[in-house]
Amino acid sequence: MSPASSAARVPPASDSPADAVPADLNIPDNYVAHTLKTQKALPPITWQNWYKNINWLSFTILTVTPAIGVIGAMFTPLRWETLLFSIFYYYLTGLGITAGYHRLWAHRSYNASLPLQYVLAMLGAGAVEGSIKWWSRGHRAHHRYTDTELDPYNAHKGFLYSHIGWMMFKPRRKPGVADVSDLTKNPVVRWQHRNYLSLLLIMAFIIPTAIPWLFWGDARGGYIYAGVLRLCFVHHSTFCVNSLAHWLGETPFDDKHTPRDHVITALVTIGEGYHNFHHQFPMDYRNAIKWYQYDPTKWFIWVCQQFGLASHLKVFPDNEVQKGQLTMQLKKLREKQEKIAWPSDNNDLPVISWESFQEQSLKRPLIVIAGFIHDVSDFIDEHPGGPHLIVKMIGKDATTAFFGGVYDHSNAAHNLLAMKRVGVLHGGFQPGVDDKAIPPSQRLKIARYNELSGSPYNSGTAYSDSEGLLG
Ligand SMILES: [Zn+2]
Ligand SMILES: [Zn+2]
Repeated sequence: MSPASSAARVPPASDSPADAVPADLNIPDNYVAHTLKTQKALPPITWQNWYKNINWLSFTILTVTPAIGVIGAMFTPLRWETLLFSIFYYYLTGLGITAGYHRLWAHRSYNASLPLQYVLAMLGAGAVEGSIKWWSRGHRAHHRYTDTELDPYNAHKGFLYSHIGWMMFKPRRKPGVADVSDLTKNPVVRWQHRNYLSLLLIMAFIIPTAIPWLFWGDARGGYIYAGVLRLCFVHHSTFCVNSLAHWLGETPFDDKHTPRDHVITALVTIGEGYHNFHHQFPMDYRNAIKWYQYDPTKWFIWVCQQFGLASHLKVFPDNEVQKGQLTMQLKKLREKQEKIAWPSDNNDLPVISWESFQEQSLKRPLIVIAGFIHDVSDFIDEHPGGPHLIVKMIGKDATTAFFGGVYDHSNAAHNLLAMKRVGVLHGGFQPGVDDKAIPPSQRLKIARYNELSGSPYNSGTAYSDSEGLLG
């Protein structure tokens, strides 16, 4: 075969060395827009056509398993040994997904030794969610195209869709391109992909039946509770990462997309509930960054590190994490700031001469303080120091008296005074009196970058002060 014809050959979909070429190596720069425009989506699923669009394999697994589990449980007594083992096995197979599929393979957030990789690959098979390769490909697309049409479990399509609908029905579009060539080179991932069906049967059903049978003679209970029902719990636990974690909770790190942080999600997903953090810092081996937050997957990886089974646990620089947190806090404060009424500033007020001020103060009670003219008519009787101190200052400059000459007014008094501004005295501003002209509540404020006069992003001239080398 000539080199040209081999290059033109479409690589097979199975795990072969051809998959070692990154899938996104040659995509156009405008890949997302281009794909959405040129790739036709299947018609939407409706009440008329839904039954023609069922993905029968997933549909059967996701409906028959709970049916067998519930019916089986009605006729099978639950022994406490089997119950404890089922819970234990739920955590083990769940960790196969969270610590294995998710944090190790999909995100490469740490390195695992070969024995740990084999254990996680087997436990993950016991969760019956597809092979590592298939799962990670979808998950990488989910992170890359979060909340868009190219996200396989796009949260904007609703809670049920992102939870289970995306598997029950044939997808309307292919997930966006995501590279898994690193995984196709991994011998453990290839081994699991090749032997997936037998690993699934052994790990999901044979082992949880055999252990209760061999140790306390409860094969049937083992099959129903530790096998089938445990599998339903693992399924819906991990599905919650795509649904609940994109729906319930706070956005302490970023609010551009749907992922959220909530302790309830963490509790039902073995610690994957700090999903807002996770989408911002997906290569971090942690989902919860505070020690008291519930993240058993993180604890498991950390313990594996102590035993030399895991290494290179990736942690995003705290400095950058704090930038995200601060941005969100400032955003909230800015909203609060915008709900508050603020005094008029120089640009909104008329400039009045001293003579005009004197003249107008004969008709209404006007007082000059720190270069601003204030109308105090609604405050004379409210003045805590008594009306007489205000009345005697009408038509005068009371700056000295206000700032300690007679009484050193509180910050609150200064803030309130500023609300009574009606004009600016011509030539009334003295250099170095900013602390008197600007009320305390306005000395520190949240401003957008383009609202700051000295902002480097706001300057019309860019210049270099040296050779033009970046430092
Ligand atoms: Zn997500
Ligand atoms: Zn993820």
